[in-house]
Amino acid sequence: MISNNILSFAKSVLCELLEPGCIAIDATVGNGYDTVFLSETAGADGHVFGFDIQEEAVKQTEQRLNEECRPQNWTIFHSGHENMLELIPAEFHGRIDVVMFNLGFLPGSDKTVITKSATTLVAIEASLGLLTRGGLLCVAIYAGHPGGDEEDRAVREYCTALDYHAYRVIQSEMINKPGYPIRMLFVTKL
Ligand code: SAH
Repeated sequence: MISNNILSFAKSVLCELLEPGCIAIDATVGNGYDTVFLSETAGADGHVFGFDIQEEAVKQTEQRLNEECRPQNWTIFHSGHENMLELIPAEFHGRIDVVMFNLGFLPGSDKTVITKSATTLVAIEASLGLLTRGGLLCVAIYAGHPGGDEEDRAVREYCTALDYHAYRVIQSEMINKPGYPIRMLFVTKL
């Protein structure tokens, strides 16, 4: 797969890891493209849990899933990802293979509705608890919009401090992009 953006790069990494039957979380469903990718990969025996605080994003994602993905192997919550521990049924705790975050605002929508470091960090911590051993957390971080720089620093600081004996963290970055950087963190739970 040609990686012309950081999410397609992340998906090429995920394709190596994910198998039919996997359990995934899309923590920021947005326009639903990543949710569809995860649903297709998980297949009939897997499941995808999705979160977004914007009704428009939830509706668009559900519509896309209904059009493109069969059978219905998804549950989309119109709720903040900081509530994932309460909303994802206990039987899936410790069984999640992958969690994706695509931070920032939804392109083409209200640019003032953004992910915020306080809730993002709660959700990242919850995600790490929900992952199975060998599971992967991916976080796409955008520093260019108001509030983005602060969130970028907070998320990287949090992940830098994770115990090396429990997690491995790899950062990739689009280093020739004009303007602000786009980063992707990959956190593997050992
Ligand atoms: N910046 C990316 C797209 C990010 S979409 C890009 O350029 O491609 C981010 C999504 O996160 C938006 O749809 C927004 O509604 C959602 N969001 C914001 N806060 C959230 C929260 N606390 N929980 C879940 N989703 C949230």
